[in-house]
Amino acid sequence: MLCPLYETLGWVQEDIFMSKPTAKSYVLDKPQGNFILGDYEIPDPEPGTVLMRIELCGVCGTDVHTWQSLVEDLEYPIALGHEMVGVVEALGKGVETDYIGKQLKVGDRIGVIPAIHCHKCYFCTIAKTPEKCLDWKTYGTWPMADQKPYFNGGYGEYLYIHDPNSVYVKVDTSPERGVFLEPMAIIVHSMLHAQIEPGDTVVVNGAGPIGLLTIGCAKISGASRVIALGRRNRLRLQLAEKMGADVTICHSDVSSQQERRNLVFRESLNGYGADVVFNTVGTAIAFLESLDYVRDSGTVVEVGNFVDSGTIPFNPCKHLLEKGIRIIGSFDNEAEHYVRALPIIADKRLPITDLITHTVPLERLQECLTAIKDGKKLDGKDIVKIAMDPQL
Ligand SMILES: [Zn+2]
Ligand SMILES: [Zn+2]
Repeated sequence: MLCPLYETLGWVQEDIFMSKPTAKSYVLDKPQGNFILGDYEIPDPEPGTVLMRIELCGVCGTDVHTWQSLVEDLEYPIALGHEMVGVVEALGKGVETDYIGKQLKVGDRIGVIPAIHCHKCYFCTIAKTPEKCLDWKTYGTWPMADQKPYFNGGYGEYLYIHDPNSVYVKVDTSPERGVFLEPMAIIVHSMLHAQIEPGDTVVVNGAGPIGLLTIGCAKISGASRVIALGRRNRLRLQLAEKMGADVTICHSDVSSQQERRNLVFRESLNGYGADVVFNTVGTAIAFLESLDYVRDSGTVVEVGNFVDSGTIPFNPCKHLLEKGIRIIGSFDNEAEHYVRALPIIADKRLPITDLITHTVPLERLQECLTAIKDGKKLDGKDIVKIAMDPQL
């Protein structure tokens, strides 16, 4: 029953009872801290901004590293979650199209580039590598995630795309495919570095989500033979075959590095080793192994060592100059890689949805990240990719 005072002062009643709806979003309080699922007021999008209702967010190994404070220079609390796909819930005034000019309306499915680049600095304009922007920031690790405007990471019901330099693109495929837009953009970036040519033999070292997506993307990009190397996990090597690997090599079966190197050379179409090697394993030793697989004057693209995994003995004469190879570090991604990744995630030749081994509700986030960190199964099943569904 209403207080008589409120009945007489109608404006006060309205103010009290018209409280804004809220929704859930995670905040990680500190390095190696706890994930707190909070209820925050859903923002009305300001002019030039977009409110996205998240359908799925991929749980990524990078989030485990960030949680374990292996990613430097972050100001906590942060939200985490950067592999999200969703639908436009509300458009701020003036927003009519996506980044490449496609009409956008409420209900359209979009993917957002978590990283934000200034489009003004030396790296954005002169070096033309916006991923090294001097003002780089990203949804997922936005500082002070427990303060307005909230909803700045993928582990929640909404993402508020509020920075004026944000880039989002319309996604004309299912959410289960759309959730791979961010990781596929990472791979497209590495693929552009690799410059694969018809007839090439490509080695993909590592059969985690990035390795598996790299296999598919390499095939579509013209590789004639793909050789995939995995550690112990048979499920991942089966998926490697599904994604298009012609040859799979399991460390458990071929334990000597010299034997693995010989096998790669035997399986290479030219007999001299891989024209291109992608290292997708985040260990220093895996990078060194990758150098073994490449042919003279070939290319090695490093994608896996996103956080510091230590040092290795590297002989500039033997490893680099005598072999005459190119070694390229492929860091993060930018708008071009998303736009090029769109048709690849939608390509029905690639069974990428098979990579989703678990779809879980928001409440299980910490459990999922812990399982990835410890290399454990979840619900009795090996993990390849976990998708978080806030509707569950
Ligand atoms: Zn990721
Ligand atoms: Zn910049």
